[in-house]
Amino acid sequence: MESSTFVLFGATGDLAKRKIYPALYNLFLDGKISTPLSVIGLGRRELSNEAFQAQVLNSLQTFSRKPAEDSEKLRTFIQAFEYTVLDVGRPEDYVKLLGHVKAREEDLGIPENRMFYLSVGPEFFGEIAANINSSGLGSTKGWKRLVIEKPFGTDLASARVLNESLSAAFKEEEIFRIDHFLGKPMVQNLEVLKYSNPVLRALWKNRYIANVQITASETVGVEERAGYYDKSGALRDMFQNHMLQLLMMTAMQLPKGSTPEDVSNKKRYVMESLRPLIKDDLTRDVVLGQYAAGEIKGNPVPGYLDEPGIDSSSRNETYIAARLWIEDPMWNEVPIYIRTGKRMKEKSTRIVIEFKEPLNDYNNLNKGNTDPNLLIIDISPNEAITLQLNTKDPLRTGKLEPVRINYQLGNPEIPESYENLIYDALRGDSTFFAHWDEVELSWQWVQPIQEAMEAGVLPLHSYAAGSHGPAAAAELLGDDHWWLDE
Ligand code: NAD
Repeated sequence: MESSTFVLFGATGDLAKRKIYPALYNLFLDGKISTPLSVIGLGRRELSNEAFQAQVLNSLQTFSRKPAEDSEKLRTFIQAFEYTVLDVGRPEDYVKLLGHVKAREEDLGIPENRMFYLSVGPEFFGEIAANINSSGLGSTKGWKRLVIEKPFGTDLASARVLNESLSAAFKEEEIFRIDHFLGKPMVQNLEVLKYSNPVLRALWKNRYIANVQITASETVGVEERAGYYDKSGALRDMFQNHMLQLLMMTAMQLPKGSTPEDVSNKKRYVMESLRPLIKDDLTRDVVLGQYAAGEIKGNPVPGYLDEPGIDSSSRNETYIAARLWIEDPMWNEVPIYIRTGKRMKEKSTRIVIEFKEPLNDYNNLNKGNTDPNLLIIDISPNEAITLQLNTKDPLRTGKLEPVRINYQLGNPEIPESYENLIYDALRGDSTFFAHWDEVELSWQWVQPIQEAMEAGVLPLHSYAAGSHGPAAAAELLGDDHWWLDE
């Protein structure tokens, strides 16, 4: 991999401090970043290079996975960081930035490979891309790439407007849209799990799979993000992006030796195959909820409407569950249940595959009494694979009992999401990023829900903080039930 310049917009922000600097440092220690390294941080405030480097050091000491003790390596890493003042709306600042980038490229002998990482609000994305283009920053002899993070629009129309402005300056293959769920080891493991295990591969079809359940539950409430969250809600904040990405990763079928382009095509195919929601049937397929007061781990917590910064008449959803169908020979008639919410009983992101045909008639003792085989993929905060099988209890009546065979990751050497994703973006590998078609099709699929919410025709169910969500979400499943809501 050739050296490049990492140009970071929003270098004094929270994301940069908590995730981006530690990720770069760990990649550097692992020898995954080409040297010499040049990072140019941008922000509105005046800041000397030394003061900026002190901020970076502080971030490493606070948030890095590997220790940031004083060493030659650490000093070399910190020296790579320089700072330039830039207001995103001032074109002359970009010309100054170009001068800085070029001077360092020449000084350090770095080819004109430039990565523009936009760790700023999405309202700035279009303007920054246009200024990168018009200032000449984007006219490189090497490669140029743009890294952005959700939200990619707030609905289908705004996502399209944003994409048009980005594509005026960058080609689709130069745009790396981060969905940090895709950087998680267990999500990156899904393909291997499905296709490198003949046992699972043979069963990965609608003949054997009863249903798929994808859950991302949080125990926290809105925290300091009230202003943002009260406009966004669970649909925009989680469902349209992270949850549908998990669905695509679970359902896509890749050819052997697949390329990033194959991944993009197969994910698009999943989204194109989703049965569209019908306005009149929405209440059958979608459940919205908002948390009321309750208890989290024994501590009383207020309801959503009593949270600081939330409008006391807000109809914003803090929970959404939906039933989806993929109209494709492999997934036909397999319901996919997705749910995500705040102030739930457990913090967990997990995929459960329930297999069909429990051995109901194995013997009379167990008639109608056996549990199905389950494949449980814990993504976060646990990282584990669990297989639930039935065995005969030799001590007692010979009854069948479910047992869970568990493999747990938990090695501190495992890179964090942002390390995986920044490394891939630097290598130009877009496998684990959100591509435009997926983003567009996801907005398109959720549009009827957004319209129904705006029209106020979808009921908003209340659920107690610390519960598994509204009772209506259990009814959504009919004869099935959510697994692991013990
Ligand atoms: P932040 O408010 O902490 O930082 C924003 C940065 O943008 C600051 O460095 C600020 O100086 C800069 N900025 C603001 N206006 C500017 C202007 N006019 N010109 C130049 N710079 C300007 O925000 P954050 O939490 O770091 O988030 C950045 C982006 O990443 C947001 O789009 C957010 O949605 C997204 N994001 C953040 C997190 C997170 O964990 N913080 C997680 C996922 C996504």
